[in-house]
Amino acid sequence: MPADRRTGPVVLLGFDAADPELVEQWAREGKLPAMAKLMSRGAWARTGGEELLFEHGVWSTLFSGISTARHGFHFFWQPVPRTYGLELKRGRDLGVVPFWAWLRGTGRSVLVLDPPDAAPVRGLEGTQVSEWATHSHYPPLPLEAEPPTAITEVRKAFGPREQIGEKIGASAVSDRVMVERLVARAARKGACVRALIAKRSYDLVVAIFSEAHTGGHQACEYRRDAKGDGPRPDAGLGDALLRLYRAVDDEIGRIVEALPPTATVFVTSSVGMLSQYPTEELLENFCRELGYQVSPQRAASSAPAPRRSVTSRLRGLVPERARNVVSKFLPFQVQARLLSEKFAASTDWSRTTVYAPPGYYTGCLRVNLRGREPNGIVSPGAEYDALLTRLEEDLHALRDAESGEPVIERTVRTRDAFHRDVHPALPDLIVFWREHDRPLRRVRHPRAELTQSPHAFHRGSHHTTEGMLVAAGAGVRAAGRGPDISPLSLAPTLLTLLDVTPPDEMTGPPLHDWLVQSPALSDTGR
Ligand SMILES: [Zn+2]
Repeated sequence: MPADRRTGPVVLLGFDAADPELVEQWAREGKLPAMAKLMSRGAWARTGGEELLFEHGVWSTLFSGISTARHGFHFFWQPVPRTYGLELKRGRDLGVVPFWAWLRGTGRSVLVLDPPDAAPVRGLEGTQVSEWATHSHYPPLPLEAEPPTAITEVRKAFGPREQIGEKIGASAVSDRVMVERLVARAARKGACVRALIAKRSYDLVVAIFSEAHTGGHQACEYRRDAKGDGPRPDAGLGDALLRLYRAVDDEIGRIVEALPPTATVFVTSSVGMLSQYPTEELLENFCRELGYQVSPQRAASSAPAPRRSVTSRLRGLVPERARNVVSKFLPFQVQARLLSEKFAASTDWSRTTVYAPPGYYTGCLRVNLRGREPNGIVSPGAEYDALLTRLEEDLHALRDAESGEPVIERTVRTRDAFHRDVHPALPDLIVFWREHDRPLRRVRHPRAELTQSPHAFHRGSHHTTEGMLVAAGAGVRAAGRGPDISPLSLAPTLLTLLDVTPPDEMTGPPLHDWLVQSPALSDTGR
């Protein structure tokens, strides 16, 4: 049965990695008029909590309504449960489906354009295209569409496919070119969405703008209040970040204008941004220097094996090169398998209590737990708890050798955060480093000095653990700012608006407080 035309369509626009602090500030200052209008006419909140502890699975969580504790996706190169190996992980391989998959068989039609790391849902009425113009993934993801003719439709409305990846260490000239390309691409995507919704009506429209994500990383260091990795003048790029946000905001405004008054619009940012450099090698050295993670002894010598990080060798496979060239995908997979084997061989598991799987920015620590890891030596219960306590004390004792300041912001015990047993790929302890605008090269502990060399992914920005959700239109009350919400609430809320009962596997509560209950109020907020 088609949806009631008096209440549609439901629209979800993604403002990927738009920092909530900046959006709120710039909306207040009149610099993001479309966001300001939605916020003033509808309901909005920051998203946060345990579901945003890891940046990599955020879109999978937002779209599926399934907790990270269940799907386990937290880093593109993460541990394989019941082994000491690693695997390349992608959001589309988690066995969870985006919320629009639940519209199959309901007669409702969808327009879905560029959902991060989600493949088209087969057998769904409408137009779905993935990976047309996105924040490029590593390794690259294929262009896919449902039906296949949707590619022609999108090409006609958008122009040629345009994937833009981050360029680490690029010159200011190159960065300026990229910012301009991203600004132009946001306009193309907005025009594409408007052209497609003008052609036919959809019950659900999902379109994700990733220009503030790619461009946010690229422009972050030019902000006038950012010091960056050594002095870097703004090079005419001091307002680049605002320019990118404004470009997306303009398109949000134009899409809202093009919608019928019966539409309900949601805009979500996945996560915010902060200044940080990779800390991966420091955390591995922390585990090894303090005796948690023991390197294997060389067979013919009593000298320990070199401590050179095996995980960090993935750095040699320069991501931005590999992820932009699909033909490199297979060799990359082969190299990743070899690196996984090397990672497993880099440690004497019979003497290791805690180890550090890869994690460029947010640190992941795993306990070598008996009954879970193949050669676990730490018993669950009191021994496990005491080990985590000692580990947290050691982490909080770390000081930047240059400034003397603490370097750890907070540590989070994964099971405590999720209040449940979690997916076996997830770490036991999550380590958040303080914001820092230059790389941490030397860090002191009372019993060791830890050093790290520059990471090949030498990028001075990472993500915060907060996003935002803004909604306005026919189905939403003018409720203003509400208390922080879980990203798990988005999917069941949108299904509720589409008159589909959220499945039991979606554990987040729909945002009933935001929704107009009575059709008589259906013109509120627009
Ligand atoms: Zn990012």
